[in-house]
Amino acid sequence: MKSSRSSFGRAPAVPGSRRALLRPWYRLRGWWRHLRISRGLTRVLGPQYHRSRERIEIDITYLCNLRCFNCNRSVRQAPEALHLPLATITAFVDQSIVRGKRWRRIRVLGGEPTLHPTFFEIIEELRRYRQTYPECLIEVVTNGHGEAVQSRLAQLPADIWIENSAKTGEVQPAFGPFNLAPVDDTAYRHADFRNGCAIMRDCGMGLTPLGYFPCAVAGGIARITGEGGGRSELPTDEDDMTELVERLCKLCGRFRDGHYVPTNLRPALLEERMSPTWIALYRAWWRKHKPRRSLPESLRESSGPTEPLS
Ligand code: SF4
Ligand code: SF4
Repeated sequence: MKSSRSSFGRAPAVPGSRRALLRPWYRLRGWWRHLRISRGLTRVLGPQYHRSRERIEIDITYLCNLRCFNCNRSVRQAPEALHLPLATITAFVDQSIVRGKRWRRIRVLGGEPTLHPTFFEIIEELRRYRQTYPECLIEVVTNGHGEAVQSRLAQLPADIWIENSAKTGEVQPAFGPFNLAPVDDTAYRHADFRNGCAIMRDCGMGLTPLGYFPCAVAGGIARITGEGGGRSELPTDEDDMTELVERLCKLCGRFRDGHYVPTNLRPALLEERMSPTWIALYRAWWRKHKPRRSLPESLRESSGPTEPLS
């Protein structure tokens, strides 16, 4: 098991010398993805991706000390100090042990996970799981921003892996346009959204304050739609969560690429982008959750959609 620390983000760029070679490869993958998600091909081949059974990402809070554009947990777009209770982690650990669940990796993230009021107790619960399955990697994904966060990171036991993206501000050029819903885009009118994307396979399924989801991003989307559907107990391996994939991936900008694309092979994203469905969802969220607060500038009627229907 790894016991060292990482100070690197998880989206490495491709070295300049290999970029020219890899660009056509990723273009080809993008073309295949677009074909692969069609209803016809999905009917024949089944969904391209399935949720992981051996990796999980746990969003322990939606509280964050940054407000990044295009945050795929909607922390900027719909800020809320919503925490996952410690008791849910205890239940997750107990159920995992009783069922003989061998997690290869458990990732703790958010929001900024170190700001959770019982952050260290959560880490200790996950270490309790690892007493039974020592090969499991436990990882904290942090923005590394500010003294409070850094001080908490420094107090973590040495056996916890740290993935530190070292963010310093709200512009994240390497992010994708999370709030450009494919369902708003005529280029995806042929899509079967049950295909999901590589996140739910490679990063893992999700546990969030709203329950278990095919991926943690999907749980963050459910927080905004308010439709629920997250499982309250650890799902069995037979549960593919297909209805959640279909309902939530149609809103997720990550569905477009469908797989990881190196940061320097995609355009830098320097502003907030939203398609009409997301604007409507956030407006409804603000009216419901913060009725006394005025809508953020980007959601006001007068500002109109920032991204037209194609
Ligand atoms: S640091 Fe992460 S969770 Fe916080 S606003 Fe930025 S992208 Fe969202
Ligand atoms: S498209 Fe979005 S919600 Fe769907 S699996 Fe990928 S990251 Fe999760």
